[in-house]
Amino acid sequence: MNFVIVGNGAAGIAAAEAIRKLDQDSPITILAEEPCHYYSRIRLIDYLAGKVAEDGLLLKRPEWYQSQGIEVRLGERVVAFDQARRELSCASGACLGYDRLLIATGAKSFLPAAPGIDQELVFTLRTLADARRIVAAARGGRRVVMLGGGILSLEAASALQQLGCEITVVEYFERLLPRQMDRQGSLVLQGLFEARGMRFFLGAKSYEVTGTGTANGVRLADGTTLPGDLVLVGAGVRPDTYLAQASGLAVGKGIEVNDRMETAVAGVFAAGDVAQHRGVLYGIWPAAMQQGQVAGTNMAGGEASFTGLAMSNTLKVAGIDLFSLGDIDPDDKLESVVFRDQGLYKKAVFKENMVAGAILLGDLSSRSALQRAMSQGRIISDADRLAMRQGDFSLTA
Ligand SMILES: Cc1cc2nc3c(=O)[nH]c(=O)nc-3n(C[C@H](O)[C@H](O)[C@H](O)COP(=O)(O)OP(=O)(O)OC[C@H]3O[C@@H](n4cnc5c(N)ncnc54)[C@H](O)[C@@H]3O)c2cc1C
Repeated sequence: MNFVIVGNGAAGIAAAEAIRKLDQDSPITILAEEPCHYYSRIRLIDYLAGKVAEDGLLLKRPEWYQSQGIEVRLGERVVAFDQARRELSCASGACLGYDRLLIATGAKSFLPAAPGIDQELVFTLRTLADARRIVAAARGGRRVVMLGGGILSLEAASALQQLGCEITVVEYFERLLPRQMDRQGSLVLQGLFEARGMRFFLGAKSYEVTGTGTANGVRLADGTTLPGDLVLVGAGVRPDTYLAQASGLAVGKGIEVNDRMETAVAGVFAAGDVAQHRGVLYGIWPAAMQQGQVAGTNMAGGEASFTGLAMSNTLKVAGIDLFSLGDIDPDDKLESVVFRDQGLYKKAVFKENMVAGAILLGDLSSRSALQRAMSQGRIISDADRLAMRQGDFSLTA
């Protein structure tokens, strides 16, 4: 059996490991467009802040691939595969046959169609190469306009603040972290960031990036001008379905897969940020790992299923602890318990007496308890509800 994996990220590597567990002999080839070995995208934030050097980002060293009998070809972009001949073609002109193929091409940063956005000094953050360019432009403490107020944007903005940059955040929605926070919670969060000197312009439905070939700021629809030495766009990601589409594989928002991570084409699997499973695009590391592991097991003839994952996010900004889980009920349509205190905001959302979602800001000590209760479908007692009203979300009442 000849295994080929396109993509050297969390999903691709998890799949290779799962294949090797079941099959120690067959060839495994990983084709990776980026010219570097498997590294932590999550820690690119620490790299921006100057807390870790490039070498510290590496999760697998060349020796690992050798010890596992895995051939990895770096800087090799796959442009198409032929379903009938089971053959891949690369931009370099190389061709490669496969018996089982995994598409783990991840996602790409989304660039909104705003005037002036294609200028020099406008950046997105997805790869190590992106991070290098941002660090070079921000060195010396520059004025940064951040377009987007999601988790990744706030983490990147905080990292650049540590380099001495002055940060202004522009967000389309009326509140920060629209997908992870309700209104009240995001106001508390905004206060914490403002106390650190960040400025926010929320509800900015349209804007243009100013400059004459090189960005020098952002102008909002009401005429407000925000000067900036660089502009960082954090407008989310889109699955990188280029290869699938170029090869005639049907795609929705991502590559549609079943619980075994199989696509509609026999012998072809997909996993990670590129995959759409039961309609869901996860875009998070734990899902990429689990899906990759399931795909690899099934590719090697084993039996594994991915049945879904409760969406959770943790903001990694020193001194600001935030965790959100599942359905955070932004419009207060469900039953919930909220506890507020200075710099603290906690919320648990219930459906049929079970935890359906939660927000923890300022104290993450009950994160595991809430995750467990949600995944186990535990019934929440009146005593637990009472304890929550008094700030204790540990579910031990
Ligand atoms: C700065 C940052 C911080 C993040 N923080 C968190 C976090 O705190 N928690 C969390 O859960 N998630 C986080 N994420 C998201 C997480 O990194 C992704 O969900 C995860 O990396 C997805 O893994 P993947 O293997 O699906 O794709 P990727 O890691 O994107 O890997 C895909 C690889 O495929 C390669 N590729 C694409 N097309 C081709 C082609 N045609 N030929 C060859 N190779 C190709 C790409 O170059 C890439 O290296 C963060 C992401 C970023 C950018």
